[in-house]
Amino acid sequence: MAWEEELQALGKAIAACRVCRDQPLRGETDRLPHEPRPVAVLSATARILIAGQAPGLRVHESGLPFNDASGDRLRQWLGVDRDSFYNPDHFAIVPMGFCFPGYDAAGSDLPPRRECAPLWRQKAVDAMPQIELVLTVGQYAQAWHLGPARMASMTETVSQWRRYLLTNRSPAVLPLPHPSWRNSGWLKRNPWFEAELLPVLRERVKILVS
Ligand code: SF4
Repeated sequence: MAWEEELQALGKAIAACRVCRDQPLRGETDRLPHEPRPVAVLSATARILIAGQAPGLRVHESGLPFNDASGDRLRQWLGVDRDSFYNPDHFAIVPMGFCFPGYDAAGSDLPPRRECAPLWRQKAVDAMPQIELVLTVGQYAQAWHLGPARMASMTETVSQWRRYLLTNRSPAVLPLPHPSWRNSGWLKRNPWFEAELLPVLRERVKILVS
């Protein structure tokens, strides 16, 4: 099978996945309480991979990744409009969990389903060898893509961004906080993120989507 056909077949297999509904890892009590709707954009041509967390309810309903306020902030960080962001020649978008995981008792989104990454992530990454830059959005993506190179906290990891971006690692990894409104306080407390990291990020994006 040609490379693009393999990628297409993988996309279809992911779209058909119902593991969290039918065979939840932690048993019956942890069954996904709604119909799974995997949301991911695989691409044979994009040079940037956005490694997100998991869809929220709005994304689950629309089937469009980052179709929410977090996405608006992420696009602003990247310096791109919606047309560019949703162009699969520009960005592959592969979260750590492809389906909306539901809410916890406090009404917050649950973490990405633990079934998802072991099943699909390596296959998705292997199927897109052209990727040159991985943007790890949040702690779950940082844990998977950076492994032991990750620092003790999300703040420390993001603050060491030059170390990850400028080494010989291929693809390069740039850790970002999650663009959720919940991190607005974090952004205020860490002004170096906007002043130093974002200009470099926008420059890289401009080159890689051109
Ligand atoms: S979260 Fe991942 S493993 Fe679970 S049903 Fe969705 S695609 Fe399958």
